[in-house]
Amino acid sequence: MKIILYVMDGCQVDALNRVDSSEANEAKRKALIVEPTSTIYPSLTGPGHASILTGVLPAKHGLISHMYWDWGSGIHNIYSDQSFEAPTLFELLSKRGFKSEGHGNYFRRGITDPFSKKTLKWVANRAEKSTFITNTLESMPGFEKFLKRSVAGTVERLDEKVADSNAPLHYVLDNRVDKASHKHGPNSTDYSNAIQTAMANLVGLINALESRKQDYVIFVTSDHGHTTVDDKVNAADLDLSEVGLPIKNSEVINANLIVEYGQSSTEAVAVVVSRHIQVYLKDKSKTARVTEALAKKRFVDKLLIGDQIAGTGVANPRTGDIIGGFKDNVGFIELPIGEKGDHGGFTEKEMLVPLWVIGSKVKPGTVHGEGTVDIAPTIFSLLKTDEARFDGKPINIHS
Ligand SMILES: [Zn+2]
Repeated sequence: MKIILYVMDGCQVDALNRVDSSEANEAKRKALIVEPTSTIYPSLTGPGHASILTGVLPAKHGLISHMYWDWGSGIHNIYSDQSFEAPTLFELLSKRGFKSEGHGNYFRRGITDPFSKKTLKWVANRAEKSTFITNTLESMPGFEKFLKRSVAGTVERLDEKVADSNAPLHYVLDNRVDKASHKHGPNSTDYSNAIQTAMANLVGLINALESRKQDYVIFVTSDHGHTTVDDKVNAADLDLSEVGLPIKNSEVINANLIVEYGQSSTEAVAVVVSRHIQVYLKDKSKTARVTEALAKKRFVDKLLIGDQIAGTGVANPRTGDIIGGFKDNVGFIELPIGEKGDHGGFTEKEMLVPLWVIGSKVKPGTVHGEGTVDIAPTIFSLLKTDEARFDGKPINIHS
């Protein structure tokens, strides 16, 4: 059996349902629709993909955002294969003799890459000291862009590549959907067209597998949705002088906003990634006061502390003392990626994602779903291997 994880990065459920092309309708007719399906919090790319690939919450896989602050060693980038604290599906399955291939994706832990690709990846890592943000590809110098594209591969000729391969597991990432919303917004024609293109690609793949009479299951899903960002705030709006924490310095690193607070020494740090914020406090006894000051800001939606962070599945030594999201429609002017659309917040537009299961033996219909963490355990049950370490549970796709 061939299992394909078909991830349309940044695909909002509503936007997918609005697409009315013949291919989208054909795919939908063949699909077992698992709804509602939620991504994990925060609704960011790194954490979202990591939960799909590991079947565990950010607390366990460690990609709690894209960067974190450490009082001893400063700012760390964790948007990388090296930062995973839980094994991926590919790693777990390779131990059981199953090979995996990747198409267009950057997270590749456990994927059997040819030697040339491994070498390129090593060079690419050196080229920018292990800092990778897929979405900043466009703003990168030509050489780095070339390196990354070569490492990630593309989704072109996907149908032949998957149908010809003898690997049982394929991870496909279509990044064009996410890019279209960041640039033009989730209500734009560009976004809808990008989803339409992904659907055409998907149907091409289904046809290739069916014409060769291969036994297959495809999981069509996403790492997060998207929302419009018309209302732009800036770093200065995060000022916390009223609780003795004036802004000392702010800078943009890897397309994320890092704000340091304090008079002479750094007393607090805010890490803003898209529409998600984590605040690290040197003096933890200030947590309640700082939370209250932040919550009063007109653009702040919900903030979590202590047990609430644990209850959301984000508690990890890398996690801030206060974490949260911005109100719908709000984005930061300093963050170049989120021009018209972004994600990272708590809204349904960002948290709900599609999950369609299409397969040679899967009966179309609708089944109640929970989260993207259920995908990995479902794949394990299809391959008849057991794994007790998941936070999710298998979806019954053959009922
Ligand atoms: Zn994404």
